[in-house]
Amino acid sequence: MSAVRAAVLTRCGDPGPFAQTRPIEVRELGLGDPGPGEVRVRIRAAGLCHSDLSVIDGNRPRPVPMVLGHEAAGEVVATGPDCTLAPGDRVVLAFVPACGECEPCLSGRAALCEPGAAANTDGTLLVGERRWRGDGEELIHHHLGVSAFAEEVIVSERSAVPIPDDLPYETAAVFGCAVLTGVGAAMNAADIEPGSTVAVVGLGGVGISAVMGARLAGAGKVIAVDPVAFKREKALELGASEAIDPGDDLAAQLRAAPGGPPASVIETVGSATVLRAAYEATARGGTTVTVGLPAPDAMLSIPAVSLVTEERTLRGSYHGSGAPREILPRLFDEWRAGNLPADQLITDRLTLDELNEGFDRLASGEQLRQVAVP
Ligand SMILES: [Zn+2]
Ligand SMILES: [Zn+2]
Repeated sequence: MSAVRAAVLTRCGDPGPFAQTRPIEVRELGLGDPGPGEVRVRIRAAGLCHSDLSVIDGNRPRPVPMVLGHEAAGEVVATGPDCTLAPGDRVVLAFVPACGECEPCLSGRAALCEPGAAANTDGTLLVGERRWRGDGEELIHHHLGVSAFAEEVIVSERSAVPIPDDLPYETAAVFGCAVLTGVGAAMNAADIEPGSTVAVVGLGGVGISAVMGARLAGAGKVIAVDPVAFKREKALELGASEAIDPGDDLAAQLRAAPGGPPASVIETVGSATVLRAAYEATARGGTTVTVGLPAPDAMLSIPAVSLVTEERTLRGSYHGSGAPREILPRLFDEWRAGNLPADQLITDRLTLDELNEGFDRLASGEQLRQVAVP
């Protein structure tokens, strides 16, 4: 057992501004030893993601107190028994541990790992235990098997994917969620035909990654959509052919696009209203993909017959729609070839003590990816 500094979310549903209400407290916690198949990782960079914000503001409640954060890269400093990783290995952390034995894992869909999802819901590691120690008997939960906002963490090695020596930790961190989610949705879920038109709705870290992914998948034209001007500029720099403000009728604007409605639309906002508009905007016969995370009770209403008579596909994509262990090495190669400049997503850096302020900035839309360096 040793002491590490970690950012603990003390309650869900805080109204903010978090700079005043301070739902995240940096505490000194005990961290036990890694168990079988577990590694201890010194976190070198951890990204602030919208789905952390959804836990803080109560849109996606999780058990608290919890060490927040799920997008990180770092260095293995210790290993438990039966590990293939070794101290000194550089890794990015994946936010669904892949048990390797359940049906989804065996069929190449590790993002849907069943024991992984159960552990994430409970706030434990894959083995069903917690390695954090707070005061007395208080249980401190893990966030998605990662708990990125800490100096050091213990994770299942099935949450860790090795990274190349030449990939900086900060860039590697954003591969763990934003890039994997956005590029994976474009490449593995959106049915993008070479030369086709693709729209990406919502231009946070995931959305901009989806723009880059649409290019990698061979899209002829990529229309980027967001009300925030600097995000539209960024999308244009990173591969969008045009960038539009959705105004008050997203579907009408996209359907009126020169060349006709997009064949694939990727929605990253996490709003059922926006998803419905994205569905309406998609061309007949096309595919609408959602990677946003609406509140658990949000319902979607679409004209049911349109699925049949217009041969539409509506699908979700989680964690890149595949196995991070297989997808990420291919994406690292694209990064090295200059086709996936993920470092361009990073717009600010901060410390663990500044996370409340950082999430205010994320909520206001003024940042893409901020990276905490513990
Ligand atoms: Zn995320
Ligand atoms: Zn599994």
